[in-house]
Amino acid sequence: MITQAIRQVIDLLKQGKVVAIPTETVYGLAGDATNDMACAQIFELKGRPTFNPLISHVYSLEEALKLGDFSKQALQLAEHFWPGPLTLIVKRKANCPISYLASAGLDTIALRVPSHPLMREVLKGVQTPLAAPSANPSGFLSPTTAQHVEKQFHEKLVVLDGGTCAVGIESTIVDTSVPIPCLLRPGILTAADLKKVIPNLSTNLISDKINAPGQLKSHYKPTLPLRINASYPLNEGEALLAFGANIPEGYKKVLNLSETENLKEAAAHLFAYLHLLDSPKYKGIAVMPIPNVGIGLAINDRLKRASFS
Ligand code: AMP
Ligand code: MG
Repeated sequence: MITQAIRQVIDLLKQGKVVAIPTETVYGLAGDATNDMACAQIFELKGRPTFNPLISHVYSLEEALKLGDFSKQALQLAEHFWPGPLTLIVKRKANCPISYLASAGLDTIALRVPSHPLMREVLKGVQTPLAAPSANPSGFLSPTTAQHVEKQFHEKLVVLDGGTCAVGIESTIVDTSVPIPCLLRPGILTAADLKKVIPNLSTNLISDKINAPGQLKSHYKPTLPLRINASYPLNEGEALLAFGANIPEGYKKVLNLSETENLKEAAAHLFAYLHLLDSPKYKGIAVMPIPNVGIGLAINDRLKRASFS
Protein backbone atom coordinates (compact mmCIF):
# COMPACT_ATOMS: atom_id res chain seq x y z
CA MET A 1 0.00 0.00 0.00
CA ILE A 2 1.37 3.45 -0.91
CA THR A 3 1.38 5.64 2.19
CA GLN A 4 1.87 9.38 2.20
CA ALA A 5 5.49 8.91 3.30
CA ILE A 6 6.19 6.65 0.32
CA ARG A 7 4.45 9.07 -2.03
CA GLN A 8 6.60 11.95 -0.71
CA VAL A 9 9.79 9.93 -1.24
CA ILE A 10 8.76 9.01 -4.79
CA ASP A 11 8.02 12.68 -5.59
CA LEU A 12 11.39 13.83 -4.18
CA LEU A 13 13.26 11.17 -6.18
CA LYS A 14 11.45 12.20 -9.36
CA GLN A 15 12.63 15.77 -8.72
CA GLY A 16 16.24 14.49 -8.58
CA LYS A 17 16.52 14.73 -4.79
CA VAL A 18 18.30 12.28 -2.49
CA VAL A 19 16.44 10.45 0.32
CA ALA A 20 17.14 7.59 2.75
CA ILE A 21 15.24 4.34 2.18
CA PRO A 22 15.37 1.02 4.06
CA THR A 23 16.46 -2.12 2.25
CA GLU A 24 16.77 -5.62 3.69
CA THR A 25 20.56 -5.11 4.03
CA VAL A 26 21.08 -1.56 5.40
CA TYR A 27 19.47 1.87 4.84
CA GLY A 28 20.39 3.36 1.47
CA LEU A 29 21.05 6.95 0.42
CA ALA A 30 18.95 6.83 -2.74
CA GLY A 31 18.83 8.96 -5.85
CA ASP A 32 17.91 8.54 -9.53
CA ALA A 33 20.83 6.53 -10.98
CA THR A 34 20.21 8.02 -14.43
CA ASN A 35 20.50 11.60 -13.12
CA ASP A 36 24.09 12.95 -12.90
CA MET A 37 23.12 15.66 -10.42
CA ALA A 38 21.36 13.21 -8.09
CA CYS A 39 24.41 10.90 -8.19
CA ALA A 40 26.74 13.86 -7.55
CA GLN A 41 24.63 14.75 -4.53
CA ILE A 42 24.99 11.20 -3.14
CA PHE A 43 28.79 11.36 -3.43
CA GLU A 44 28.81 14.82 -1.84
CA LEU A 45 26.53 13.92 1.07
CA LYS A 46 28.50 10.75 1.83
CA GLY A 47 31.88 12.36 1.24
CA ARG A 48 32.55 9.30 -0.91
CA PRO A 49 35.45 9.32 -3.39
CA THR A 50 34.01 9.39 -6.90
CA PHE A 51 36.24 6.51 -8.05
CA ASN A 52 34.02 4.24 -5.95
CA PRO A 53 30.98 3.25 -8.02
CA LEU A 54 27.42 2.98 -6.69
CA ILE A 55 25.00 0.03 -6.84
CA SER A 56 21.85 0.62 -8.90
CA HIS A 57 18.67 -0.91 -7.49
CA VAL A 58 15.89 -1.98 -9.84
CA TYR A 59 12.40 -3.41 -9.39
CA SER A 60 12.84 -6.64 -11.33
CA LEU A 61 15.19 -8.83 -13.34
CA GLU A 62 13.27 -7.66 -16.41
CA GLU A 63 14.32 -4.05 -15.65
CA ALA A 64 17.90 -5.17 -14.96
CA LEU A 65 18.10 -6.90 -18.36
CA LYS A 66 17.39 -3.54 -20.05
CA LEU A 67 20.51 -2.04 -18.42
CA GLY A 68 23.19 -4.71 -18.53
CA ASP A 69 24.36 -7.73 -20.53
CA PHE A 70 23.91 -10.81 -18.38
CA SER A 71 26.10 -13.86 -18.90
CA LYS A 72 24.43 -17.26 -18.49
CA GLN A 73 25.80 -17.50 -14.96
CA ALA A 74 24.71 -13.97 -14.06
CA LEU A 75 21.21 -14.92 -15.16
CA GLN A 76 21.30 -18.09 -13.07
CA LEU A 77 22.33 -16.14 -9.97
CA ALA A 78 19.70 -13.45 -10.58
CA GLU A 79 16.93 -15.99 -11.12
CA HIS A 80 17.92 -17.83 -7.96
CA PHE A 81 18.63 -15.00 -5.51
CA TRP A 82 16.63 -11.95 -6.65
CA PRO A 83 14.88 -10.20 -5.03
CA GLY A 84 17.51 -10.38 -2.31
CA PRO A 85 20.86 -9.30 -0.86
CA LEU A 86 22.99 -10.06 -3.94
CA THR A 87 24.64 -7.47 -6.21
CA LEU A 88 25.83 -8.49 -9.67
CA ILE A 89 28.46 -6.64 -11.69
CA VAL A 90 27.58 -6.90 -15.40
CA LYS A 91 28.70 -5.18 -18.60
CA ARG A 92 26.65 -2.05 -19.29
CA LYS A 93 24.48 -2.16 -22.42
CA ALA A 94 25.33 0.35 -25.17
CA ASN A 95 22.15 2.35 -24.52
CA CYS A 96 22.26 1.99 -20.71
CA PRO A 97 20.93 5.22 -19.14
CA ILE A 98 22.79 4.85 -15.82
CA SER A 99 24.98 7.87 -15.08
CA TYR A 100 28.69 7.28 -15.69
CA LEU A 101 29.23 9.08 -12.41
CA ALA A 102 27.29 6.27 -10.68
CA SER A 103 29.50 3.65 -12.33
CA ALA A 104 32.72 5.69 -11.87
CA GLY A 105 33.29 5.72 -15.61
CA LEU A 106 33.53 1.92 -15.82
CA ASP A 107 32.05 -0.14 -18.65
CA THR A 108 30.39 -2.31 -16.00
CA ILE A 109 27.48 -1.57 -13.66
CA ALA A 110 26.43 -3.00 -10.28
CA LEU A 111 22.78 -4.13 -10.12
CA ARG A 112 20.53 -5.44 -7.37
CA VAL A 113 16.84 -6.24 -7.03
CA PRO A 114 16.11 -5.67 -3.33
CA SER A 115 13.37 -7.53 -1.42
CA HIS A 116 12.41 -4.91 1.18
CA PRO A 117 8.71 -4.07 0.66
CA LEU A 118 9.18 -0.29 1.14
CA MET A 119 12.11 -0.11 -1.29
CA ARG A 120 10.06 -2.17 -3.76
CA GLU A 121 7.09 0.21 -3.50
CA VAL A 122 9.42 3.14 -4.15
CA LEU A 123 11.11 1.43 -7.12
CA LYS A 124 7.71 0.59 -8.60
CA GLY A 125 6.65 4.22 -8.20
CA VAL A 126 9.74 6.01 -9.55
CA GLN A 127 10.25 3.65 -12.52
CA THR A 128 13.96 4.45 -12.69
CA PRO A 129 17.00 2.65 -11.26
CA LEU A 130 18.01 4.02 -7.86
CA ALA A 131 21.64 4.40 -6.84
CA ALA A 132 21.65 3.69 -3.11
CA PRO A 133 24.90 3.23 -1.18
CA SER A 134 24.66 2.89 2.58
CA ALA A 135 23.20 6.02 4.19
CA ASN A 136 26.26 6.98 6.26
CA PRO A 137 29.26 9.25 5.79
CA SER A 138 31.86 7.31 3.79
CA GLY A 139 34.03 5.04 5.91
CA PHE A 140 31.80 4.99 8.99
CA LEU A 141 29.27 2.59 10.50
CA SER A 142 26.42 1.49 8.24
CA PRO A 143 22.86 2.36 9.35
CA THR A 144 20.37 -0.41 10.15
CA THR A 145 17.63 1.85 11.58
CA ALA A 146 16.13 5.21 10.55
CA GLN A 147 17.55 6.65 13.78
CA HIS A 148 21.10 5.70 12.74
CA VAL A 149 20.61 7.70 9.52
CA GLU A 150 19.19 10.68 11.40
CA LYS A 151 22.05 10.57 13.92
CA GLN A 152 24.67 10.67 11.15
CA PHE A 153 22.99 13.21 8.87
CA HIS A 154 21.35 15.43 11.50
CA GLU A 155 17.99 15.93 9.79
CA LYS A 156 19.52 16.88 6.45
CA LEU A 157 17.52 14.12 4.80
CA VAL A 158 14.01 12.76 4.47
CA VAL A 159 14.20 9.23 5.87
CA LEU A 160 11.58 6.59 5.10
CA ASP A 161 11.29 4.65 8.36
CA GLY A 162 10.99 0.90 7.82
CA GLY A 163 12.19 -0.20 11.25
CA THR A 164 15.27 -2.41 11.63
CA CYS A 165 16.91 -4.00 8.56
CA ALA A 166 16.58 -7.79 8.71
CA VAL A 167 19.97 -8.70 7.19
CA GLY A 168 22.02 -5.90 8.76
CA ILE A 169 25.14 -6.09 6.57
CA GLU A 170 25.70 -5.01 2.97
CA SER A 171 24.89 -7.20 -0.03
CA THR A 172 27.14 -9.97 -1.31
CA ILE A 173 28.80 -8.70 -4.53
CA VAL A 174 29.73 -11.01 -7.43
CA ASP A 175 31.56 -9.77 -10.52
CA THR A 176 29.95 -11.65 -13.44
CA SER A 177 31.55 -9.43 -16.10
CA VAL A 178 34.68 -11.59 -16.09
CA PRO A 179 35.01 -15.12 -17.58
CA ILE A 180 35.03 -16.77 -14.13
CA PRO A 181 32.59 -15.02 -11.74
CA CYS A 182 34.36 -13.68 -8.69
CA LEU A 183 33.17 -12.89 -5.18
CA LEU A 184 34.08 -9.22 -4.51
CA ARG A 185 32.39 -8.69 -1.16
CA PRO A 186 31.16 -11.37 1.27
CA GLY A 187 27.64 -11.04 2.69
CA ILE A 188 24.76 -12.99 4.15
CA LEU A 189 24.61 -15.08 0.97
CA THR A 190 27.80 -17.07 1.37
CA ALA A 191 30.17 -18.52 -1.22
CA ALA A 192 28.67 -21.94 -0.46
CA ASP A 193 25.15 -20.64 -1.22
CA LEU A 194 26.35 -19.16 -4.52
CA LYS A 195 28.37 -22.23 -5.50
CA LYS A 196 25.20 -24.35 -5.38
CA VAL A 197 24.08 -22.31 -8.40
CA ILE A 198 27.46 -21.55 -10.08
CA PRO A 199 30.04 -24.10 -8.88
CA ASN A 200 32.98 -22.34 -10.57
CA LEU A 201 32.68 -19.14 -8.49
CA SER A 202 36.11 -17.76 -7.64
CA THR A 203 36.48 -16.75 -4.00
CA ASN A 204 39.97 -15.40 -4.35
CA LEU A 205 39.21 -12.05 -2.75
CA ILE A 206 42.83 -11.02 -2.56
CA SER A 207 43.22 -8.35 -5.20
CA ASP A 208 45.38 -5.28 -5.53
CA LYS A 209 42.75 -3.64 -7.66
CA ILE A 210 40.37 -1.76 -5.41
CA ASN A 211 37.07 -1.59 -7.21
CA ALA A 212 34.75 -1.52 -4.24
CA PRO A 213 34.88 0.81 -1.20
CA GLY A 214 34.18 -2.29 0.85
CA GLN A 215 37.63 -3.39 -0.33
CA LEU A 216 39.39 -0.39 1.18
CA LYS A 217 41.52 -1.45 4.14
CA SER A 218 39.80 1.02 6.44
CA HIS A 219 35.99 1.16 6.26
CA TYR A 220 32.84 0.69 8.38
CA LYS A 221 34.57 2.49 11.28
CA PRO A 222 33.09 3.59 14.60
CA THR A 223 34.59 6.78 16.09
CA LEU A 224 36.15 4.76 18.94
CA PRO A 225 39.10 2.44 18.34
CA LEU A 226 37.92 -1.11 17.65
CA ARG A 227 39.91 -4.18 18.69
CA ILE A 228 39.13 -7.60 17.24
CA ASN A 229 39.65 -11.14 18.63
CA ALA A 230 39.54 -9.81 22.20
CA SER A 231 39.69 -12.24 25.12
CA TYR A 232 40.30 -9.81 28.01
CA PRO A 233 39.94 -6.03 28.53
CA LEU A 234 42.89 -3.91 27.49
CA ASN A 235 41.87 -1.01 29.68
CA GLU A 236 39.06 0.03 32.01
CA GLY A 237 37.10 1.96 29.47
CA GLU A 238 36.70 -0.73 26.84
CA ALA A 239 33.19 -1.99 26.04
CA LEU A 240 32.77 -5.56 24.84
CA LEU A 241 30.90 -6.80 21.80
CA ALA A 242 30.52 -10.46 22.76
CA PHE A 243 29.75 -13.60 20.78
CA GLY A 244 28.58 -16.82 22.45
CA ALA A 245 28.05 -17.64 26.10
CA ASN A 246 31.62 -17.57 27.49
CA ILE A 247 32.15 -13.90 28.20
CA PRO A 248 35.54 -12.73 29.54
CA GLU A 249 35.39 -10.93 32.87
CA GLY A 250 36.23 -7.31 33.55
CA TYR A 251 34.23 -5.50 30.89
CA LYS A 252 31.88 -2.74 32.08
CA LYS A 253 29.42 -2.83 29.22
CA VAL A 254 28.68 -5.96 27.23
CA LEU A 255 26.39 -6.45 24.25
CA ASN A 256 26.10 -9.93 22.78
CA LEU A 257 25.88 -10.42 19.00
CA SER A 258 24.47 -13.92 19.58
CA GLU A 259 24.51 -15.90 22.81
CA THR A 260 23.72 -19.07 20.84
CA GLU A 261 26.51 -18.40 18.29
CA ASN A 262 24.00 -17.91 15.49
CA LEU A 263 25.94 -16.06 12.75
CA LYS A 264 22.85 -14.78 10.97
CA GLU A 265 21.64 -13.18 14.19
CA ALA A 266 25.15 -11.78 14.78
CA ALA A 267 25.20 -10.15 11.32
CA ALA A 268 21.78 -8.58 11.91
CA HIS A 269 22.99 -7.07 15.22
CA LEU A 270 26.50 -6.07 14.13
CA PHE A 271 26.09 -2.42 13.08
CA ALA A 272 23.24 -1.69 15.52
CA TYR A 273 25.37 -2.82 18.48
CA LEU A 274 28.47 -0.97 17.22
CA HIS A 275 26.32 2.19 17.01
CA LEU A 276 25.23 1.65 20.63
CA LEU A 277 28.76 1.06 21.94
CA ASP A 278 30.30 3.91 19.94
CA SER A 279 29.70 6.34 22.78
CA PRO A 280 31.88 8.87 24.61
CA LYS A 281 31.17 6.80 27.75
CA TYR A 282 33.81 4.32 26.55
CA LYS A 283 37.42 4.49 25.38
CA GLY A 284 37.22 1.69 22.88
CA ILE A 285 35.28 -1.33 21.63
CA ALA A 286 36.63 -4.87 21.92
CA VAL A 287 35.05 -7.64 19.87
CA MET A 288 35.28 -11.34 20.70
CA PRO A 289 36.45 -13.78 18.01
CA ILE A 290 33.84 -14.72 15.40
CA PRO A 291 34.28 -18.09 13.62
CA ASN A 292 35.67 -17.44 10.14
CA VAL A 293 33.18 -19.65 8.28
CA GLY A 294 30.01 -18.99 6.29
CA ILE A 295 28.39 -15.69 7.32
CA GLY A 296 31.26 -15.28 9.81
CA LEU A 297 33.50 -14.41 6.83
CA ALA A 298 31.27 -11.42 6.02
CA ILE A 299 31.18 -10.30 9.67
CA ASN A 300 34.97 -10.59 10.03
CA ASP A 301 35.46 -8.74 6.73
CA ARG A 302 33.56 -5.75 8.19
CA LEU A 303 35.27 -5.97 11.60
CA LYS A 304 38.77 -6.22 10.15
CA ARG A 305 38.27 -3.03 8.12
CA ALA A 306 36.57 -1.29 11.07
CA SER A 307 39.62 -2.05 13.24
CA PHE A 308 42.20 -0.89 10.70
CA SER A 309 43.81 2.40 11.69
P1 AMP B 1 27.82 0.28 -1.30
O1 AMP B 1 26.78 0.84 -2.20
O2 AMP B 1 28.60 1.29 -0.54
O3 AMP B 1 27.34 -0.88 -0.50
O4 AMP B 1 28.90 -0.30 -2.26
C1 AMP B 1 28.55 -0.82 -3.47
C2 AMP B 1 29.63 -1.68 -3.92
O5 AMP B 1 29.52 -2.10 -5.28
C3 AMP B 1 30.86 -0.90 -3.83
O6 AMP B 1 31.78 -1.65 -3.11
C4 AMP B 1 31.20 -0.60 -5.24
O7 AMP B 1 32.53 -0.31 -5.48
C5 AMP B 1 30.77 -1.86 -5.90
N1 AMP B 1 30.60 -1.63 -7.30
C6 AMP B 1 29.69 -0.86 -7.88
N2 AMP B 1 29.85 -0.85 -9.21
C7 AMP B 1 30.90 -1.64 -9.49
C8 AMP B 1 31.56 -2.03 -10.68
N3 AMP B 1 31.16 -1.60 -11.87
N4 AMP B 1 32.63 -2.84 -10.57
C9 AMP B 1 33.02 -3.28 -9.37
N5 AMP B 1 32.43 -2.95 -8.20
C10 AMP B 1 31.38 -2.14 -8.25
MG1 MG C 1 28.74 1.54 2.65
